[in-house]
Parts: sequence; C-alpha cells; structure tokens
Amino acid sequence: MNKVYNSRLILIAATLVILNAAFGIAAQKVEATPPTRAQALASPAAAFAFFQAADENAKIAIRAQLEKNPGSRDGLLLGQSPYVAIVGCSDSRVPYGELLGAKSNDVFTVSLAGNVVSDDAIASIEYAVKYLNVPLVVVLGHDHCGAVSACMTEAEVGGALPQLLGKIRPAIQSATKACVGCDKEALFAACIAANAKLSMDELLNRSAKIRTLVQEGKVGLACGVINLSDASIQWIVTPTTVTPAAK
Ligand SMILES: [Zn+2]
Repeated sequence: MNKVYNSRLILIAATLVILNAAFGIAAQKVEATPPTRAQALASPAAAFAFFQAADENAKIAIRAQLEKNPGSRDGLLLGQSPYVAIVGCSDSRVPYGELLGAKSNDVFTVSLAGNVVSDDAIASIEYAVKYLNVPLVVVLGHDHCGAVSACMTEAEVGGALPQLLGKIRPAIQSATKACVGCDKEALFAACIAANAKLSMDELLNRSAKIRTLVQEGKVGLACGVINLSDASIQWIVTPTTVTPAAK
C-alpha cells in the first residue's frame, strides 16, 4: 500500500516538475518574444502575454517621462479631477480619451455596448458629478455601432444581450417612425443619433441628482455621435439647449 502511495507521490512530483519546466519555458519565451498584435487574437494565453508586453512598454514610457520630469505623476495619486464624464459605447474602436486627445485624469468614462444607460451607469455618473465635481457629462454614440445594428436587424442573441438590446429598441422605433423614406445608411445614422439622445434622456429622467445639477446649471449635459474616421462629433444636444422638465 505504502509502495503504491509513494509511487503516486513520485509521479505527482515528476508531473509538477515537468509542468513547472514547461510553464517556465513558456514564460521565458513570452518574455523574450512577446506575441504580435495579430497573434494575440489566437488564444487567451497569447492575449495575456501581449497585454503584459503592452504594460511593459507603458512602464518604460512612464519611467522615461519621470526621468525627464520627476514628480510629474505625483498628482495622480492625490485623486482624480476629470473635466468631463463620457457615457459611451464599449466598442474598442472608440477609445474616447485618445480620440479627443485627452490626457490621464481628463475623462471619466462609463462604457456599455450601445452606450446604454443601466442603473450602474447612472450611479457612476452620479458619483462623477457629486463626488468628483465633474462639470460636464457627454453621451457619445458613434457611427457603425454594432449594438445599434444588432438591434435594428433584430439579431438573435442569447444570454443577457436581449436585455441590453431592449434598452436600444425604443430609439430604433422612434427613429424608424421619424425617418420615413430614408435609405439604409440614413436610417442607421438616425437610429444611432436617437439612441444617444435616448441615453441622455434616461440620465435626466432617472436621476434626480443629475437632473437637479443640470437645472441648477452646475452640470452641463450634451449628446452627440462621434465619427470613427476623423473624430468629428455631430452634436445633437449641447449643454445650453438642455432644459430638463422639473419633476
Ligand atoms: Zn457601439
């Protein structure tokens, strides 16, 4: 019995040694030659290695910045002070801060597919305006939005996705009604614009805190659609035109 037990222990130990060696070699390989951006798509491990390599590059850039200007990042540790909160889409083609030329600490971002506004998104914006004193909230849809497109085509989706698309559907319905005779492209654009406006209205209608701050003129609220190709924004509502109804 003991013999069997001992041989099992030896087998487990040997397996661990082999696994350790294999993973050690893999880790060394990743360190030596990180995967390319294209290779990162091939597997979770490659994506993680690429992510780690990107972080290494970021660290190198920050170290260089600190060498040139010691203490330049100390302010970040004291707390954030963004000047704008953006409610946007989680689409990876829309890195809002980057598109707008923003620096670290400029943009407070709440991103959900289709720039929908959930309870948690509202809470996040309330946190931004109440505790960070952010003076401007912008709801920003974008052209070629996949979530809006999926809702327009009534794509069959499972899991929690129908719930999300349900938040976009009223915008599709109102835009379709208003855009009589529009071609496919114009209707798509109208739906995206209506969806951004709907999310802005949701912020106003569902949050007494946000509504009050807007009414008092302490927070500006705007919405628009950003163009992926040149970052130009087609504004639908600017802060001066937002007049929330008292509730
Ligand atoms: Zn989108």
